[in-house]
Amino acid sequence: METKCKNFKKCGSCKYLNLSYEEQLALKQKEVKKRMQSHCTVRNIIGMENPWHYRNKVHAVFSRDRKGNPISGVYEEKSHRVIPVELCLIEDEKADAIIGTIRGMLKSFKIKVYDEDTGYGLLRYVLVRRGFQTGEIMVVLVTASPIFPSKRNFINALRKAHPEITTVIQNINDRTDSMILGERQQVLYGKGYIEDILCGCRFKISPASFYQINPVQTEKLYGKAIELAGLSGRERVIDAYCGIGTIGLIAAEKAKEVLAVELNPNAVRDAIGNAKANAIRNVRFFKDDAGHFLSSMASLGEKADVVFMDPPRGGSSEEFLSSVAQMGPEKVVYISCNPETLERDVCFLEKTGYEPKEVWPVDMFPWTASIEAVCLLEKKTETKRGKDSKKPYRRQNERKYGTEK
Ligand code: SAH
Repeated sequence: METKCKNFKKCGSCKYLNLSYEEQLALKQKEVKKRMQSHCTVRNIIGMENPWHYRNKVHAVFSRDRKGNPISGVYEEKSHRVIPVELCLIEDEKADAIIGTIRGMLKSFKIKVYDEDTGYGLLRYVLVRRGFQTGEIMVVLVTASPIFPSKRNFINALRKAHPEITTVIQNINDRTDSMILGERQQVLYGKGYIEDILCGCRFKISPASFYQINPVQTEKLYGKAIELAGLSGRERVIDAYCGIGTIGLIAAEKAKEVLAVELNPNAVRDAIGNAKANAIRNVRFFKDDAGHFLSSMASLGEKADVVFMDPPRGGSSEEFLSSVAQMGPEKVVYISCNPETLERDVCFLEKTGYEPKEVWPVDMFPWTASIEAVCLLEKKTETKRGKDSKKPYRRQNERKYGTEK
């Protein structure tokens, strides 16, 4: 099969590289339609204008070829063999160039790549992250031990080749599992993090921070989510599964207050820092399980007007969804990375008095099989039922009084 990438078969990341971009979008649209068209209107998928080199976070595994020369790339699908990658069609080109430069510098600096089998050698991975709006670049050198011979000269040579690098960090990873980053790290150059701007808010990105990898499409996704919520400035908003607070922080200027909940303590710490950096004072962050948080709120009789929810692939929990129904927000905006669990959860919400209105597929990861979508649900009310949708109302009367002939 002819594709633009010679690693197409082995790498396994870009499953749809053998299709045209239009065909790939149609396939994703079809998948969302299959799941959601019996529930609500399925809008046309929001594609990417230039669907190449969008990944702003790139990591390369370092290894050696049969002749002993250093190589860097990705693991072959379902294996621990490293496929050399010089240029990847979805990764940031500058990041790939920096990784190539580092690979080329190893011999002259006598730096050995790490060998998984023997545990011998120093350099394991290189991670590059680039701020899409700011252009700031972070390079993380992941090494097996803290000793990095002639690191000053190494950093100087790297910065000379790529003056656009704004920070370099050494991360020490002596683990035997497949985690890329270890616990310890030291800043070798610059401030140790980069910043980026998304939907007008500034975000601090540390080596381990979660941050969406396709900012161009993320702006479209969040923009659509906030548009669907139709905020007026008076609402109490919940941002559930909030990560580093992105959606809640962006929504804050259009809402009265935002309560955001997230399980991961590091993400919550980053979220609080992001709120401070942007001088946003009407957002509060809670480190908790989203289901537990919402059920506690519901049992205290607390209300909300809009709930944004962005759960992981497995979807949300019954505890969360039934608490939403109990709290009775006018709108639920569900951002999903898995149409299957989206449908399951939407069915649950339908039974508890919510009506799915529309769903927008968004292509967040062109060429891969991932499918993202944002769905708006609204609370069904008696008056709304009479006004907006005559059908269910009439059917209800039919059942009560029999059908008039
Ligand atoms: N809304 C964010 C993050 C979405 S990813 C963004 O767009 O950037 C999903 C998030 O849900 C992750 O940060 C994960 O840590 C969090 N999460 C997973 N299970 C959770 C739970 N039970 N309760 C709260 N947060 C959870």
